[in-house]
This record gives sequence, structure tokens and C-alpha cells, in this order.
Amino acid sequence: MNEASAALSALREQVQNAAREAGRPPPRLLAVSKTQPAEAVARLADAGQCAFGENYVQEALGKIRALSGRGLEWHLIGNLQSNKAREAAQHFDWVQTVDRPKLVAALAAHRPAGLNPLNVLIQVNPDGEAGKSGCTPGQVPELAAAIAAAPSLRLRGLMAIPEPLPGLEDRREAFALMAKLYAALQSAHPGVDTLSMGMSADYPLAIAEGSTMIRIGTALFGARG
Ligand SMILES: *Cc1c(COP(=O)(O)O)cnc(C)c1O
Repeated sequence: MNEASAALSALREQVQNAAREAGRPPPRLLAVSKTQPAEAVARLADAGQCAFGENYVQEALGKIRALSGRGLEWHLIGNLQSNKAREAAQHFDWVQTVDRPKLVAALAAHRPAGLNPLNVLIQVNPDGEAGKSGCTPGQVPELAAAIAAAPSLRLRGLMAIPEPLPGLEDRREAFALMAKLYAALQSAHPGVDTLSMGMSADYPLAIAEGSTMIRIGTALFGARG
């Protein structure tokens, strides 16, 4: 077994254990490949991983092109500027960082007609710190309605990057708030099936609070340079 398959199976086992301990279904695993070369993504794809997350549109495009035809699923998980919305809508399968009406309109307008609807998560800022990306909890219903009304978009759920408080337990509150918002969104939009939260340092806690998709970089690829 090579290094990539070993890292992937070790992580999968830890995720299974965390889910079992929490009495939750195991979440989907998004491999966060920012700063990693296409070859590293290819090795993980060969090991069976199919969903990858990227933070920067420009950096991602080279990898998406290099690995096209392999059936990989690409998620944008970094801040999206409106002037990059066209390229994001053309090349990604999911955008997890939609937090304002202008982005909804731009993605909807630019998603090519020949492709499946673009899967969209609303990014929420659960900590209420000013200057951070993500909408407020109160803005979720209106954004959700706008996404659901766009035929070229598909509302899949919510995403959050809670403040990385030093005490792990202190992060629980933000994850729990996200779970509440997610339940409310699901009752208004029954097609919603994704709550994206949890990274290398805190995914067991996120799973315990109801995450359905964890975004893992370091624990799969090693520390970023
Ligand atoms: C980098 C990043 C991750 C992965 O972080 P790790 O700590 O390396 O697992 C997850 N989500 C987002 C939004 C990121 O930017």
C-alpha cells in the first residue's frame, strides 16, 4: 500500500470510529487539496477518494484540467469574489461559500446550461465576529429561497468554519448552533442534505454535533508548507 492509500484508510477508520462513538452516521469526506500538486490529488484519487476541496479558483483550475476525465468532484471552499463567479460556476461541482445575494445571482447566471445544476452551500458565520466571511444565521432563509428559486443552482445545505478556539470543547457551541440552523433549513427545504463542518483538528466534535461532510487537509496530505 502506498502512502496516499495508507493515509486515506487510516483517516477513514478514525472517522468511522468517531461516528460510531457518537452514534452518528459517518460523514462524507472532502479531501482539501489546496497547495497540493495535481500529482498528490491523483494519488489520492487512485486510492479511491473522489471529492476534493480547493480554496482558490485560479489554483484549482490547473488541477481540474489536469485531472479531467477521472470523474472527480470539485468543491470550492474558499472565499469567492464576484468577479470569479463565472469561472467557479463553469468548473466546480459545488460552491460551499455562498454568503450574499450577489453571489447567488452571479453563479446562477453563469452556470452553463449543459451542466447539472451547481450544488450550493450557504456559508454561515456562527461566531458573530465582524469581518469574517459567512452570512449571519438570520440571513439564511432569504439566501436559501434565492438559491432554491434558481434552476441552475441546487441548494444542498450549510457550511461553517467556526473560530478555531484553543479549547476544543469551546468549539462545540458553534457546531451545535449550525446543527440547529441546518434542521430549520431542512424543514423549509426538504432536499437539503449537507452540513459541512469539521477539519483535521476538530472533526470528531463536528461529527458528534451532526456534521454530514468533513473537510480534511492536513490529516490526509500532511502539514502544508
Ligand atoms: C484548509 C481548509 C480546510 C482543511 O483544513 P485542515 O486543518 O488542513 O484539515 C477545511 N476547510 C477550509 C475552508 C479550509 O480552508
